[in-house]
Amino acid sequence: MSATTAAPPLGTPIVQPIHHSAAYAFDTLADARAVFAQRAGGYTYARTGNPNVAALEAEIARREGGAGAVAASSGQAAVALALLTLTGPARDAHAVVSSRLYGGSVDLLTDTLADTGLEVSFADPRNPREWEDAVREGTRVFFLESIANPLTELPELEAIAQIAHRHGAAVVVDNTVATPHLYTPGEHGADFVVHSATKYLAGHGGPLGGLLVATGSFDPTEDAARWPWLTEAHHRWGGRSPVEVFGARKTVLGVARCKYLNDLGPCLGAGAAHEILQGTATLDVRVQRQSATAAALAATLAGHPAVERVHHPSLAQGRQRELYAQGGYRGGGGLLSIDVRGTASDVGTVVNGLEHIRLAANIGDVRTLVAHPAGMTHCRLTPEQFRASGITEQTLRLSVGLEDEETLTADLLRALAPVAPPAESTPHPRESDTAAV
Ligand SMILES: *Cc1c(COP(=O)(O)O)cnc(C)c1O
Repeated sequence: MSATTAAPPLGTPIVQPIHHSAAYAFDTLADARAVFAQRAGGYTYARTGNPNVAALEAEIARREGGAGAVAASSGQAAVALALLTLTGPARDAHAVVSSRLYGGSVDLLTDTLADTGLEVSFADPRNPREWEDAVREGTRVFFLESIANPLTELPELEAIAQIAHRHGAAVVVDNTVATPHLYTPGEHGADFVVHSATKYLAGHGGPLGGLLVATGSFDPTEDAARWPWLTEAHHRWGGRSPVEVFGARKTVLGVARCKYLNDLGPCLGAGAAHEILQGTATLDVRVQRQSATAAALAATLAGHPAVERVHHPSLAQGRQRELYAQGGYRGGGGLLSIDVRGTASDVGTVVNGLEHIRLAANIGDVRTLVAHPAGMTHCRLTPEQFRASGITEQTLRLSVGLEDEETLTADLLRALAPVAPPAESTPHPRESDTAAV
């Protein structure tokens, strides 16, 4: 029998192959010149683009109803790209940001970006008036979370976004805790959405990643003089303006990718992008289940004598309840927090008594995790920031995974049992400002 050249096998992979290549080859120098000079689309080097990263960017942009996205090596990097692009070169740069923010965002805003000259004012996401009062001439950005980590407050996003837009500021919303399954900030006034993909998008506690999504509403040419680094010609962009190179509604993404991601280098790797994209395929079923279990645990814990207070959108009262019911939320999410009654040592007793639920600073994993924000994620807040955050030394955050509700309930009840006060003790009075939440 003579050897024949084998025909290519039939069929193509369902799962996109991982493209582990640092660089991309061109047929001609003219092609290379065009892509490097951003006159033609294409990949040059994996710091600014890769097929796996591009697939993840397209999927998250689709899920957020956005015009496009830029992926980064972590959520921190995505937040940094957003803030640098929107405030970086302005001499009078100022941001109004939520007093209920992830600790890493507070570090970035009040230390690292403060070093570059950015000034920051904090405002309560439940009180639009505070945002209005904090605005000044240099305000370019409002930054807030759609479900706050760790106390799960819901912001008055539509009212806050109207204030931002009236003053010519862009609205950036961290949608990490809600995920696009539960909430789409672009439908409520956000110009940009950022994600820590490390959490629910990846979903299995493995890779780190982040995304910056443009919803498509921000157009710097509407007030060109306010955003000269986006609207004016510069040698960096071949003597053109970023608006000309990228198009008005994708200017911020273009500058985030081709300037900040390129120059600072916090790019997402192909393997991590692949793993996160695989995670997003199951996002809906995971978050649906995690939300339902978190709501059930919240209801159980709300009646427990060792628990002073439970924070979860499903238990919200007053205006927070209205926002939860009518503000566009499709569930309360997998994050809940409790304030343990008693002393700091009682908090330690509860944490150390958990057998199934592990102590770790992460959320969105398929495994349920507990964290002590005051001693872990938020340990660097100043006393003033700490007071404004609503977190106390008694607060524990739970990120609910995919285990059976019964397993989690049993673990929590066992750990809380040594702290429960005798039945005849009177409950502590509630603070008036938090009672409405
Ligand atoms: C974790 C987290 C971040 C930071 O993301 P990393 O991927 O850890 O860098 C930002 N915002 C929120 C709400 C987070 O939970």
